[in-house]
Amino acid sequence: ELKVDGGGKTFGESTVLDDVDFHVDRGEFLAVLGPSGSGKSTLLRVLAGLEQLTTGTISWSTDGARPRTGVVFQQALLLPWLTVIDNISLAGRFAAHRREFDKDYPEILLARFGLGSLAQRYPGELSGGQAQRVAVLRAAATRPRLLLLDEPFSALDPATRLDLRKWLAELVTEIEATVVLITHDVDEAMDLADRIVLLDKGRIRREWTEVRDGGDALRADILGQYHPDE
Ligand code: ATP
Ligand code: MG
Repeated sequence: ELKVDGGGKTFGESTVLDDVDFHVDRGEFLAVLGPSGSGKSTLLRVLAGLEQLTTGTISWSTDGARPRTGVVFQQALLLPWLTVIDNISLAGRFAAHRREFDKDYPEILLARFGLGSLAQRYPGELSGGQAQRVAVLRAAATRPRLLLLDEPFSALDPATRLDLRKWLAELVTEIEATVVLITHDVDEAMDLADRIVLLDKGRIRREWTEVRDGGDALRADILGQYHPDE
């Protein structure tokens, strides 16, 4: 689906991504783990087209054109003066592909993913977990082929995070997008992803495939390489 070859990114003197070879296959769910400052968000911003690589190339399987992409950040970034349904519908109205945008889809998505009763609320009237769900549905409502999630649940309490993990798994199955999820949470990554990469000081240090059947041995292996609490 997409491929980064020899990806490097520097800001002034500091090297943030260092010779990164990275790929995501069509329909794959990839999780990116890594300590704070390892370059995860920078990589995601490159994938989203919000940032240019300093060296190396990024390429797409979709005839060289960037696939339709939805992005979710750690903060929901909803527009406070619009209702939930208007927040979700807005992206489609401005998108380049608006002619193929199904105007009923936001409402269908909200109902199907448990937020139908919140449609007329304003962002200030939502809990943190509800706001993050709305942000994810806003990204999904444009029918992205690629969904990029930068620690979307990390600001939430553990119980809410667990709820949202199951919820996201169902959503991803439904919308059939390729997903890149950045997270600090090893259990979340193991639960959701097909494959996990570990980023460290701007380099990809390890990769684990067939993650879902990995169990305790895999968990121990990942935690041996990566200590999220340090
Ligand atoms: P976290 O887990 O804390 O979100 P991260 O892995 O997402 O960390 P990045 O946000 O990608 O890390 O940042 C990696 C490094 O690049 C950091 O040292 C950061 O200060 C630096 N950096 C990121 N964006 C810029 C920028 N626009 N200008 C200068 N330095 C930057
Ligand atoms: Mg980050």
